[in-house]
Amino acid sequence: TQRTTATALPPLTALTAPSLTWNETSPHSNAFDDVYFSREDGRAETEHVFLGANQLPERFAAWQNTRPFVIGETGFGTGLNMLCAWNCFEQHAPPAARLHLLSTEKFPLDRTSLERALSAWPSLARYSQVLCAQWPEAVSGIHRLHLGERVTLDLHFGDTTERLNLLDGQVDAWFLDGFAPSKNPEMWQPELFDAMAARSRPGATFATFTCAGIVKRGLKAAGFNWQKVPGFGRKREMLAGNIDTPPSDSRRHPTPWFTPPQVTPTNHVVVIGAGIAGGSMAAALAKRGIRVTVIERDAPGAGGSGNRQGALYVKLAVETNHQSRFYLSGLLYSQRWLSLQESNTSLNTPLWQSSGVVQLALGDKEITRQQRFMARHSLPEAVVSTHTHTLGELAGVPVSAEHGLFYPQAGWVRPKLLCEQLLKHPNITLHQGDVTHLCPDGSAWQVELASGETLQADHVVIANASLANHFTQTAALPLQQVRGQVSEVTLPKGVTGPQRVVCAGGYVSPPVEGVLTFGASFVPNDATTHVTDADHQRNIDELRQALPEWVAELEASGVALSADTLEGRTAVRAASPDKSPYAGPVPNAAAWQRDYAALRKDASKVPTTEGEHYPGLWISTAHGSRGLASAPLCAEVIASRLCDEPLPLEQPLVDHLHPGRRIISALIRAQ
Ligand code: SAM
Repeated sequence: TQRTTATALPPLTALTAPSLTWNETSPHSNAFDDVYFSREDGRAETEHVFLGANQLPERFAAWQNTRPFVIGETGFGTGLNMLCAWNCFEQHAPPAARLHLLSTEKFPLDRTSLERALSAWPSLARYSQVLCAQWPEAVSGIHRLHLGERVTLDLHFGDTTERLNLLDGQVDAWFLDGFAPSKNPEMWQPELFDAMAARSRPGATFATFTCAGIVKRGLKAAGFNWQKVPGFGRKREMLAGNIDTPPSDSRRHPTPWFTPPQVTPTNHVVVIGAGIAGGSMAAALAKRGIRVTVIERDAPGAGGSGNRQGALYVKLAVETNHQSRFYLSGLLYSQRWLSLQESNTSLNTPLWQSSGVVQLALGDKEITRQQRFMARHSLPEAVVSTHTHTLGELAGVPVSAEHGLFYPQAGWVRPKLLCEQLLKHPNITLHQGDVTHLCPDGSAWQVELASGETLQADHVVIANASLANHFTQTAALPLQQVRGQVSEVTLPKGVTGPQRVVCAGGYVSPPVEGVLTFGASFVPNDATTHVTDADHQRNIDELRQALPEWVAELEASGVALSADTLEGRTAVRAASPDKSPYAGPVPNAAAWQRDYAALRKDASKVPTTEGEHYPGLWISTAHGSRGLASAPLCAEVIASRLCDEPLPLEQPLVDHLHPGRRIISALIRAQ
């Protein structure tokens, strides 16, 4: 047994853009007094130093694995190295190959500077445009960008060593960049090389422009072999090498139950449920070239994901606990993901409207909470900002609340339409049916339906909300059913509503096709789905409380806001006891009870046994009423794990979502 000390997540911070001096399109860092790329021929230097010395053209050409080739970089800078790697991949890799880029950056350029620097390379324009369009806000954390159907970029914003220690993933080739060791000694420390070694695949290579002694010694001590090879241009030498046997990954020793299961390449996955969770899961797998059958007993978006409108927003805690960190990552990811879905469809009706969300503070307690939250994190305005007297102007309706937050990039979605669109991929088949049993079959699964049919799958992802624990393997998973009803009223011609989503206790969205939607009620432990006057009344009361003047105006213009005249829709949502989603492999609960029983007596004595999981069984549920912010990122978490790729969340957050977490917390509580 051993002592418990889980990896700590550093505080959420806004990152500052670097101060630059420009020589036309070539940036020079004032803080480090060094250039981002060679003024003579930056691109040729990148190709020589990072691509050539890692033998990327040859390795890409020979890449036959189903998992992607992974490049890790220290210091993203202008992205030149990564864009050149992408270009090289497109030129050399076979059609089915995939590329995963990950890069750290502590001082991200702002978008305008990024565009200016990359304008130096017109031949890379088609890559730079994609990057700049998705360029994330400067907030610490992992930002996953889907650059193309087969190319993913994870930007790890924050200090390199810190971020690599939080990385859940392994690298095939390293670009050891960052300003010269003499100009940036803080980065080139032994801990950096140790972190690289611990996240390397056996045989992983590296290349770097420098030959500094501190780098040679650090690499050697961490287990890398290096050679001096000819440098670019006037630089005589540089370093390249590899690591034969990386140190065994010891990150999960304090929490052995979260050790991820081994995965094998997969051909066919069954996803149960065609809501946002199942749909985003299927889409994430299909994009990776996997054949997916989605089994839905009703129709896509028939459950909690079936409303006319759904709001994408989150409520973040003042102190950044893991839940808040996850939801912020989820919000930022969903904003990018929805824009991508939108650009991939050719519908007349938009799927997603980045209208912005106004979060009103009603009452002193909430005002203080919002103020403390903003003071604590100083997040960029493009993520969230505080507003006082401008709230009404923002919302487009009279607002009496004097304090509120504004999330400019959040907004609303047509969830049902989104669910339908997500399944429109040649690798996805929708199969109507009701799954009754999941039967292990060697390393695969037999999926039995009520109709008597049986489907075979290498993996199964359970994504059917509150029904997710109706299978033998998931019966121990604590899930609460929460009834939620939205109310709808048709507005007379000429009567307008808010321009943005406005939320306080409930939310109201901008009207669509003349219908105003507001809600939703939240009734725990109630699985009924008939529309009730009582829930309508709650929604009316919430709306009146949030926007009293506007409601009075509405009523004066003839809109009857009474429970007996409203239309509505009710669905049951699923929630976990701690209100975070479950996303990950399904634990064998009985084995965990047996293997970790000692925690009941002394939680500081941690057994070394790794968590036993049902091989090939995964779950994405308990998205509550925030599925638009949580489900797409959870789908990436599961798809990345299933395909043996780096994860889009820091390891402590991946663990926070683990479907087995409640078993452990219950054992520890029972102590
Ligand atoms: N690879 C880049 C490119 O293709 O444009 C050039 C990298 S530039 C020479 C070095 C980068 O490392 C800068 O963007 C700098 O902000 C970043 N950097 C420096 N120290 C860092 C640290 N400790 N953690 C993360 N990034 C760091």
